[in-house]
Amino acid sequence: MKYDYLIVGAGLAGAMFANFATKKGKKCLVVEKKANIGGMCHTENVDGIIVHKFGAHIFHTNRKEIWDFVNGIVEFEPFVNTPIANYQNRVFNMPINMNTFNQLWGVITPYEAKKRLQSQIVSNDSPKNLEEWVLANVGSDIYKYLIKDYTEKQWGKSCTELPPDIMRRIPIRYTYNNNYFNDLYQGIPKNGYTNFISKLMSGSDFQLEIDYFDDKEYFDKKADKVVYTGAIDQFFNYEYGALEWRSVMFDEHVYDTDNFQGVAVVNHTDLTPYTRTIEHRHFQHKCTSEKTIVSYEYPCVNAENPCYPVPTEENINLYSKYKAQIDTSKYIMLGRLAEYKYYTMNEIIEKIYDKYKGTCD
Ligand SMILES: Cc1cc2nc3c(=O)[nH]c(=O)nc-3n(C[C@H](O)[C@H](O)[C@H](O)COP(=O)(O)OP(=O)(O)OC[C@H]3O[C@@H](n4cnc5c(N)ncnc54)[C@H](O)[C@@H]3O)c2cc1C
Repeated sequence: MKYDYLIVGAGLAGAMFANFATKKGKKCLVVEKKANIGGMCHTENVDGIIVHKFGAHIFHTNRKEIWDFVNGIVEFEPFVNTPIANYQNRVFNMPINMNTFNQLWGVITPYEAKKRLQSQIVSNDSPKNLEEWVLANVGSDIYKYLIKDYTEKQWGKSCTELPPDIMRRIPIRYTYNNNYFNDLYQGIPKNGYTNFISKLMSGSDFQLEIDYFDDKEYFDKKADKVVYTGAIDQFFNYEYGALEWRSVMFDEHVYDTDNFQGVAVVNHTDLTPYTRTIEHRHFQHKCTSEKTIVSYEYPCVNAENPCYPVPTEENINLYSKYKAQIDTSKYIMLGRLAEYKYYTMNEIIEKIYDKYKGTCD
């Protein structure tokens, strides 16, 4: 059978494209190399606990039409992320806000907090590395308690070796507000992301445990166009070299309690080897399990599970070289792996919604 589109990858990008294409009457075949759909958003229901297999995923958007769109696919339960940071057993609210300033310095008012923060700033008009940039923007205490060790663990490099622009910005609020995201609409699919992605793909044919590269020529012939959501360097057989990624290893533990850490997300901002612990049951409005599941996140390099692109000049140039080679009459490159870009879920959904709601060409 000939399809309009072959979609490589059953993650969010592939599933969103499939949803719009099938709505336009196009025939799609999705091939996925893993044994499950969902990509990085994959969730599993383990005895009533919805486990985010590849890290905590919280959907957020400011656009009502996008919130309505996702809720038209499956029900999303509102969820507000209020993570905490643990530095040598001192606990701080995140993102940095008046609660954090109170915990750090005992200050009560925004005026006192601003004054204290200003007194720590090391002015520097041209910071050469991340450490200098952070010290020039938020000063020494925030750097020490919340940023330095966490960032160095995450990237496997010293902050003095990291470029200043690796951190887009440090959100700081002078209000008592622990809501991590600023967006108006925030939530998690009630029955997990894999169910959401499966519903997005209804109407498409799909095959699991099929690697497109096992027979690229054969799969290319199956459709007029190919929507590719895998890694761009692999697509070109690493002709110019491999792009660099940072990864995370997830170590899951089951505990005989219904509340292990009191919150869904804890950032470990000291030298503890893991960066975050995620207690999945706290993402659910109601979880009746008598047990709990906690994932420990260990940053690492693992080509099998690329998580975060490493935006050095070298990698960006390498990506541009690959991008220039794409035959756009046949291939559409979509998603975080194919575009070598960290996308949040709403960014993927909004991009595909805006681009393809009228047409799929
Ligand atoms: C740790 C972590 C936490 C995150 N938390 C959040 C969050 O809280 N909120 C938020 O909005 N976003 C979050 N994100 C971002 C979110 O995961 C991405 O936006 C989303 O997964 C992107 O989907 P994708 O389809 O581009 O990529 P993927 O999910 O990676 O899907 C690509 C799919 O293609 C398949 N594939 C690749 N190559 C082949 C091949 N050769 N043949 C067949 N199949 C192939 C892969 O197996 C995979 O299933 C997080 C990301 C990470 C890494």
